[in-house]
Amino acid sequence: MLWKCTVCGIVLEGEEAPAVCPKCGSPKEKFVALDEEATGKVYNSDRTNDIHMDIINLAAAIIDLCAEGVELDLDPDCVSTFEKASNEAWVIKQRCKAELASHMGKGKW
Ligand SMILES: [Zn+2]
Repeated sequence: MLWKCTVCGIVLEGEEAPAVCPKCGSPKEKFVALDEEATGKVYNSDRTNDIHMDIINLAAAIIDLCAEGVELDLDPDCVSTFEKASNEAWVIKQRCKAELASHMGKGKW
């Protein structure tokens, strides 16, 4: 069963609600059990949210590598290639962040 803290929003698994919220310290009475639909959204999005986070981190690594490549300044084409890759990685990163934000708004987390 999944339990949601009505104060801070953390969702936890357990037979019963925790005695104390591990995030905000609220007592057990502040937790509500998620219904079947809400539970399905949380479990179905668990892995996809992790994948989005991994892509965000990979894109950030590409941006860092491109900055190093630009700094080395081998020749104009090389610098241009790094700049383009950096811009594309930024879009990938931001798109995944926006998708994660939409998941949160729909209870998919
Ligand atoms: Zn809480």
